[in-house]
Amino acid sequence: MKILLKNGTIVSGSESSVADLLIEDEKIVKVQENVTDEADQVIDMTGKMLFPGFIDGHTHMGLHVAGTVTADDFTTGTAAAVAGGTTTLVDFGTQYHGESLKEAEKNWFDKAGDGNSCDYGFHMSISEWTPSVKDEVDDMMADGLTTFKLYMTYPDMMLNDGEIYEVMQKLNEVGSFAGVHCENAPVIDALIRANKAAGNLGPAAHPASRPDTMEAEAVHRLMVIAKEAKAPVMVVHTTNAKALNEIKKAREEGVEAYCETCPQYLILDKSSYELPDFEGAKYICAPPLRTKDDQEALWAAIRDGDVDIISTDHCSFTWEQRLMGKDDYTKIPGGLPGVEFRGNLIWSEGVAKGRISAECACRVLAENPAKLFGLYPKKGVLAPGSDADIVVIDPQKEKTITAEGQVTNVDYSVYEGLKLQGCIDQVYLRGNLCVEDSKLIKRGLGQFIKRDKPIMIRRK
Ligand code: MN
Repeated sequence: MKILLKNGTIVSGSESSVADLLIEDEKIVKVQENVTDEADQVIDMTGKMLFPGFIDGHTHMGLHVAGTVTADDFTTGTAAAVAGGTTTLVDFGTQYHGESLKEAEKNWFDKAGDGNSCDYGFHMSISEWTPSVKDEVDDMMADGLTTFKLYMTYPDMMLNDGEIYEVMQKLNEVGSFAGVHCENAPVIDALIRANKAAGNLGPAAHPASRPDTMEAEAVHRLMVIAKEAKAPVMVVHTTNAKALNEIKKAREEGVEAYCETCPQYLILDKSSYELPDFEGAKYICAPPLRTKDDQEALWAAIRDGDVDIISTDHCSFTWEQRLMGKDDYTKIPGGLPGVEFRGNLIWSEGVAKGRISAECACRVLAENPAKLFGLYPKKGVLAPGSDADIVVIDPQKEKTITAEGQVTNVDYSVYEGLKLQGCIDQVYLRGNLCVEDSKLIKRGLGQFIKRDKPIMIRRK
């Protein structure tokens, strides 16, 4: 089966140009001007932007958390992903206390099962650091789980600073690195105790108990540890200017520091927690939403190349699940649904509004995550030999985000009513048209991707 896409604007991380793109079965075979091959289908892409399939390096599907389980499992979550142009996601396999990494890995394969709608892989979250776990890092690398995750907060997940230091060294030895959730756990616990003592139990109390200073402190500490360990590291879901500055300062001192942020920190702000009728509960996540000034600092950092990737931290709960914390905001399961909207949001709020270029969007949504997560050049680029994962954006098409009709298994949207200037029109997953006229038309074609070692794009 040959499909010829004519006269689209082919976008990469460094340039855009009008060309034809020929797909044969699951692969791209030609990207050049005036392709004259016979094809089963010829589609005019004049005026459309063709991006490599987007890669979401931060999702939580079917995750048990806060006494419940996320509303999206792999089946619905991967369908929502591909509906929004994400052709590959990397979810966090999680080692719980008492488990080996092998057990955790098996649990995540079982959780993912069959019938997923985009390609997927797993990072491995390490919550206990022992000599046998250290040996198992090599097994994970061999199995294609080639990147890792650490937490500086959450009692069930966090490692101490010394353990983080040792993990970083081991991962560096095998050519890998970890993404790290940076928040100062003990101070946050104290602030939560103070909120409770003062009777501040609604969602509006949430951001004050997880301040930007305590995120920036943890980032700073992580940077110092990384420098001492002489190892690369990634800060995940960076939310604010102070934390960004810690990353930038550390880079000046030679630390190989990578930075991720998420659309919610670029588009939403902490005023949402003040919404009446408990509606602020929809926005509970950690770290929390920040200020409009922080949003602008993050956009500038994306533009300047200081942010390497934009992921979603998709961790979805229904309204009924949010009500678990009706009388105590700390019992609201935390995390935002977002996997379905990242590409449209970054196009509309970023490229269409002139904040970033299309090439920059390509870098943070596709090319950089493909390299850092060991998927490049199979994914992350429109070039001969690569998988035919293609996102077609129509810059003229307008759409309004609404919970009605979303694929995500949630009964609200944190972006309700937001108007998109330009949106995703078609999505191909390995040559298969899965989204047509912005609607999901094909499910179930996703495959597990055994990932290679990361390509360390900041290494000097
Ligand atoms: Mn997360």
